[in-house]
Amino acid sequence: MKTYYTIPIFIPEKACPYRCIYCNQYKIVGCNNIIQPEEMKTLINTYLSTIPAKAYKTIAFFGGSFTGMSIEEQSHYLQVAYQYLSKGEVQRIQLSTRPDYISRPILENLKRYGVNIVELGAQSLNDEVLRFIGRGHTVQQVETAAEMVKDYGFELGLQMMIGLPTDTHEGALATAKKIIDLKARNTRIYPTLVIKNTYLESLYRQGKYAPLTLEEAVSLSAEIYELFDKNHVKVLRVGLHPSEGLLNGESLVAGPFHVSFKELVLSRIWQKRLDNVMQNNVAGKVKVHVSPSQLNAAIGYGGSNRKKYQGRMLFEADETIEKDAFKIEIVN
Ligand code: SF4
Repeated sequence: MKTYYTIPIFIPEKACPYRCIYCNQYKIVGCNNIIQPEEMKTLINTYLSTIPAKAYKTIAFFGGSFTGMSIEEQSHYLQVAYQYLSKGEVQRIQLSTRPDYISRPILENLKRYGVNIVELGAQSLNDEVLRFIGRGHTVQQVETAAEMVKDYGFELGLQMMIGLPTDTHEGALATAKKIIDLKARNTRIYPTLVIKNTYLESLYRQGKYAPLTLEEAVSLSAEIYELFDKNHVKVLRVGLHPSEGLLNGESLVAGPFHVSFKELVLSRIWQKRLDNVMQNNVAGKVKVHVSPSQLNAAIGYGGSNRKKYQGRMLFEADETIEKDAFKIEIVN
């Protein structure tokens, strides 16, 4: 089985025109420096020295608005990444940016350096929400940028957030559906957190913003994850990467942060499937056969799904079963 590794190049808030109200990349990624092109080689070589040679490796620029830099500056970064790509030492180059920083000259330059994946921070596909959170672009701009990215043959990623101020449960589902309609190949689902030194922190402290509870965030993320899954949009991440500042609470003011957020979401998806099974087997005991990759999620985070049915549900890994399928065996 192929193993995948990402070599992250953090450029926190680089080229962002201003700060969106929820954002403080320095606190979120726990990184205080913008990596410079001349520092990339040392960093990439350090990663490569620990990654198995046969693994599928991606150099990924995160945390800022990559294409907001001048073409010259983008090229300085990309030239370094391209050296590794052209020698076959990495297999992909990926970057994230703002939808209003996409144009034909920019995409042509990215093509020149072999970039494969362009992820756009959509966050919401509702103009009112975008206005409130200070994104500085419209839904129309996301749609136009998404079409251009696909036209140039890049793999399109559209990232979204849940629990944004003025957004709703239905609004977040509508954003997910639009991401599917725009034919994104991948996505990330980020629950909004109140991070220190952001405008959202002041709204929260004034009682003008209430984040989702962990339960609300898990339940909504599970619904959205299933929607993406059914429509073949790959979910690359659910929940923020647990940086040191989030883990020790120094960067976090409030919000649905959990170190194993994705596991909670996958457990919830399985819980819903298993609840359906048990509704039809009210008194019985069942053995659930699942793909080995899904066994932990089916059992649930901390064994939550197994505990829920108190010994009436057994689990078994079965290599013949597909990822989201399962087989039920009545055992009494
Ligand atoms: S959310 Fe993205 S565009 Fe907005 S400030 Fe943060 S890194 Fe920049």
